[in-house]
Amino acid sequence: MAYDYDLFVIGAGSGGVRASRIAAGYGARVGICEDFRVGGTCVIRGCVPKKLLVYGSKFAHEFEDAAAFGWSVPTPTHTWATLRDNVAKEVDRLNGVYLRLLDGAGVKLHMGRGRLADRHTVMVGEQSFTADKILIATGGHPVIPNIPGREHAITSNEAFHLPAMPKRITIVGAGYIAVEFAGIFNGLGAKVDLVLRRDRVLRGFDEECRTFVHEALAESGIRLRTEMEIGRIVAKGADGKSGPYEVHTPGGSMFETDCVMYATGRAPNTAGIGLEKVGVQLDKKGAIAVDEWSKTTADNIWAVGDVTDRINLTPVAIMEGHCFADTEFGKKPRKADHRDVPSAVFCQPELANVGLTEEQARLQLGELRVYTAAFRPMKYTISGRHQRTFMKLIVEAATDKVVGVHMVGDDAAELIQGLAVAVKAGATKAQFDATVGIHPTAGEEFVTMRTARADVAPAKAAAE
Ligand code: NDP
Repeated sequence: MAYDYDLFVIGAGSGGVRASRIAAGYGARVGICEDFRVGGTCVIRGCVPKKLLVYGSKFAHEFEDAAAFGWSVPTPTHTWATLRDNVAKEVDRLNGVYLRLLDGAGVKLHMGRGRLADRHTVMVGEQSFTADKILIATGGHPVIPNIPGREHAITSNEAFHLPAMPKRITIVGAGYIAVEFAGIFNGLGAKVDLVLRRDRVLRGFDEECRTFVHEALAESGIRLRTEMEIGRIVAKGADGKSGPYEVHTPGGSMFETDCVMYATGRAPNTAGIGLEKVGVQLDKKGAIAVDEWSKTTADNIWAVGDVTDRINLTPVAIMEGHCFADTEFGKKPRKADHRDVPSAVFCQPELANVGLTEEQARLQLGELRVYTAAFRPMKYTISGRHQRTFMKLIVEAATDKVVGVHMVGDDAAELIQGLAVAVKAGATKAQFDATVGIHPTAGEEFVTMRTARADVAPAKAAAE
């Protein structure tokens, strides 16, 4: 049967755009649909605008530090609308770049929500398109728990477009998004309350790093309300919708804030696509179930990116989309490799890592050697800022392989990106030691750590 397309992609975010461009490059006839804006979460309302806001907020610290270097800085003031609008302009520009990339690759874009009519037919609005193969790359969306007053809360989606900078903001959650926005709003001058249900931020990251970040956030002026749940939110504005808001806990305590932002996780966008009709099954967590080739339970349908809830990071979605296109259209079968994926949390100070946490390494490997360093960065010796850097190397004793590298501190993401190559290549601690440092940098510490931490128990004993 002759199809309209060889490949139809639902969702023009990072994974979908990469897959469609690569497939078209191999000569496939490719169609793609998007119901919001081409570029997806990362470009439109995620990584990119978030990082620009992080840059914007960091100037606050730079102004403070400048005085000790001899600069007289008049009391700085910040205009939120300028930053917000300039970020929006950059997002528009990138949206245009993505549109041109698709066009240049010969991918046909259909704006509108895609839904499957059958295994080979996608409806976009009233139009229908047939395709031999279909890729679902619909991403995810933020989730707000079902509590009274949840309609008063915003998510990261709205945080980029706030009409004004709130004087006080309450951020709920302790993951990537919560701690990143806590740093952003803190830097931009809001009084930030971070409400988390556990004792520390960033569950799942290396325990020592979590503690280090948690304490640094508190030091930076963010109020951490630990082991707290929110029961309801009450709007006190005259219209019953606007702020200030009362935030009530189930235990009966209450505090007031001007904005409540939820960052309590994201869920895959699987509703309304017609998955059940075509035999695409979901896993226990509600994400599209895929095999190691990103193939779903329907024979001609694949899925990549956050909708599959594997590792929800842009570069991973891109890798999955690229591997799919190479395999299905390029005669180059390639599985996405989810091992040793580096990642960073752009909180302030930044956290980045690659490989195993100490806790994971203790469970998975034999005896370990763990090297740590904590120090005040050179820049702050003069300015007096109470911000320290933390670094950690985890080494498998039997092989001398470096299996985990972690850092909390300025430019951690930039440093870890380079070290991720070494970890991916299987570098040993001896090879780290044989590498000459660049002086004076923070990074040289990674190649000069000589003494393993004395308190590391043999892994087997720790796991028992
Ligand atoms: P995360 O899954 O990282 O964190 C969710 C947080 O919300 C956790 O701290 C969790 O607490 C808490 N939580 C969940 N449910 C509730 C609840 N009912 N009440 C109170 N707290 C709750 O989600 P994010 O939304 O921060 O980010 C989503 C994903 O986006 C991330 O997993 C990441 O993959 C990606 N991302 C990556 C970024 C980067 O690479 N820099 C930046 C931003 C997002 P607990 O720990 O107790 O479960």
